[in-house]
Amino acid sequence: MSPTPAARTPRAALAELLSGNRRFVSGQPVHGHDVTAAAAVASGDQQPYAVVLGCIDSRVPLEAIFDQTFGSICVIRTGAHVLDRAVCGSIEYVVGQLGVRLVMVLGHERCGAVGSAVDSLRSGRRPGGALGYVVDRITPAVREVGADDPDAHPLAVRRHVRRTVAALRADDLLAGPVAAGEVAVVGALYDLATGEVALLPEE
Ligand SMILES: [Zn+2]
Repeated sequence: MSPTPAARTPRAALAELLSGNRRFVSGQPVHGHDVTAAAAVASGDQQPYAVVLGCIDSRVPLEAIFDQTFGSICVIRTGAHVLDRAVCGSIEYVVGQLGVRLVMVLGHERCGAVGSAVDSLRSGRRPGGALGYVVDRITPAVREVGADDPDAHPLAVRRHVRRTVAALRADDLLAGPVAAGEVAVVGALYDLATGEVALLPEE
């Protein structure tokens, strides 16, 4: 399904993305089983209307949960949707060069990367290597909600989505289009139990 011209506005792009999730949840996806090479070829040039930044979690395959086909959305996945310059540059590319109007940051319950950040703060033991970098990018959210809070993990999942959204809205090349209303950056949560994507309310 090619995005309609109406999907060239942030609001319409969001509506299209969420309607794809409803098809997925209903068990009646349009594209869900059409993952053939023929479908890939038929997509022709890409005309993506959204970019979704999500987690690497194997239970949250982004094209599937939004019932998207080849060429319709750009997908970036890092542990707990952690930003780095390559991620930001990639989003700047799809917004600036491909004309995408919607950026969604999608967190999820029981996120292992957020769990690592909670554990790191509680134990005082920071992972080594590049994993330490990922954890460092999540710990501010955990600190904000309080690492010792019994609900630190679910609260930090939400806080980390909001922090990621705020960082993208302030990105050098995104801030202008966002302020002008040409591009929207939204935060959402994926429910592992139901398959539903719910927008996080603005604070
Ligand atoms: Zn995760």
